[in-house]
Amino acid sequence: MHPRENRRPPACLLASSLPPPPCRAPAMSQARQRSAPISAGAATKPAAKPTTKVAQRTVPNDFGGPIGTGSLIVLLPVIVASLYLFCNEEVGCSMFPTGGLSALSAAARTSIDSFMAKASWESFGTAWAIILGWFGFHVLLHYVLPGPVRKGIINDDGSQLSYRMNGMAEFFVSIGAVLAAHYVGIFDLTYLYREFAMLAVVAGIFAFLLAIYSYVYSVSVDCLKSHNGNSGVFIYDFFMGHALTPRLFGLDIKFFCEQRPGLIGWVVLDIACLLQQYRTFGAVTPGMALVTFLHGFYVFDTFLFEEAVLTTVDITTDGFGFMLSFGDLCWVPFTYSLQARFLAFAPESLSNIYYLVCLVVGVAGYLIFRFSNLEKHYFRHHPDHPRSKALKFMPTKSGSRLIISGWWGIARHINYFGDWVLGLAQCMATGYTHIIPYFFAFYFAGLLLHRERRDEAKCSAKYTDDWDRYCKLVPSRIIPGIY
Ligand code: NDP
Repeated sequence: MHPRENRRPPACLLASSLPPPPCRAPAMSQARQRSAPISAGAATKPAAKPTTKVAQRTVPNDFGGPIGTGSLIVLLPVIVASLYLFCNEEVGCSMFPTGGLSALSAAARTSIDSFMAKASWESFGTAWAIILGWFGFHVLLHYVLPGPVRKGIINDDGSQLSYRMNGMAEFFVSIGAVLAAHYVGIFDLTYLYREFAMLAVVAGIFAFLLAIYSYVYSVSVDCLKSHNGNSGVFIYDFFMGHALTPRLFGLDIKFFCEQRPGLIGWVVLDIACLLQQYRTFGAVTPGMALVTFLHGFYVFDTFLFEEAVLTTVDITTDGFGFMLSFGDLCWVPFTYSLQARFLAFAPESLSNIYYLVCLVVGVAGYLIFRFSNLEKHYFRHHPDHPRSKALKFMPTKSGSRLIISGWWGIARHINYFGDWVLGLAQCMATGYTHIIPYFFAFYFAGLLLHRERRDEAKCSAKYTDDWDRYCKLVPSRIIPGIY
């Protein structure tokens, strides 16, 4: 499987425009070591004598440079808040309510008033207990649950980190635990729906504090610096992440946050919304069942191919700063669950045929996404496999071979297309009367277009005129037929 195959949102949220460094030791090629007593991200013996822990200086020009990244630190929480303010059970879910701007500001005022009426020191404290409890629970599971250990790439200083791949076990154990707690009456999961806004606020504050911790760590400990957040400009480095693999009580918080509490928390929030819908309306609608299934399956799939994360830009290149911290812990769970939250108070009743179409679109998107990524992975890592041998390819001066048939003969980023179609199906399951639940489709399209531009620039620089030749052979960029 190829790096970046995991669709982890934070990176998606703000994928860096800098190319990743060469992966000198791709995770997939590492020998398997099962259940070694090692924590995720534990440093193992250096593959070479450490040279330096200072990565080369970053030119601060990603995301509009210091001004752009500074603005995003404000804008991203505002987007999370807006998705709630304009889409909740008090005000419905319309971005353009009849009555224009004044109605819009009235909706925001109503939402804020209702939030303030419910808010108390007690609910604030409870939200902290839930967020910290969930985070701590996952730290515990991360250390105790078994899983194979895989090595990441060799870093600039020659060190190589080992990671325990026990995400699947954590996924099932933690979800099983919260469901058990709900059904035996220890914790009513619908509380997460009712206190959604307060939990989002606390998750945002927590993510911000963790980003501050990571920055302080980066300047006070002799640690590896990231490739993308080493400009010397505070706000830029704070956003992009200055430390490559910051630690908290020995835990590699970047890998942990990327993969665990937020991603699984997203599924738990979906379940809370589903239970709320059942409580309010006495039934679970097909749309809600479909949204929960598609989201849950997506996260399940991420853990099924968990090793792929080790060669992603997030792990190899990005630091752990506001971008990843906020993305992982607040953005993912609290914006990705929007479709389920919407259906919890505004269930649509559409025909079974419509939902069947959504399911077919989702499955089709998933199959394109998965098979195209697997095709490239097999071709690159198992060239003697019959499937790889059946593919046509183009040799290049760089030594790498580019596939020109199969999925990769259809479009140069057909995998992005499949990924987006799957995301669209998740939105479609909310019906077609409201635009806000389609937020993910718009956001993800922007993300993948940005990413495609970035990858083209990287490949063009790497393959030079071979890339031009390849583009003539496979002219479509992402969508077949669109050049
Ligand atoms: P790709 O998997 O498309 O990998 C691009 C690289 O593949 C190129 O840089 C090149 O690398 C190699 N390559 C390109 N064309 C060919 C070819 N014809 N034959 C062989 N190798 C080729 O990109 P990503 O890593 O960005 O994405 C992987 C998956 O992750 C996608 O499915 C995407 O949708 C998903 N994703 C999800 C995100 C999210 O957050 N939700 C964010 C980003 C990605 P080389 O130098 O090795 O030749």
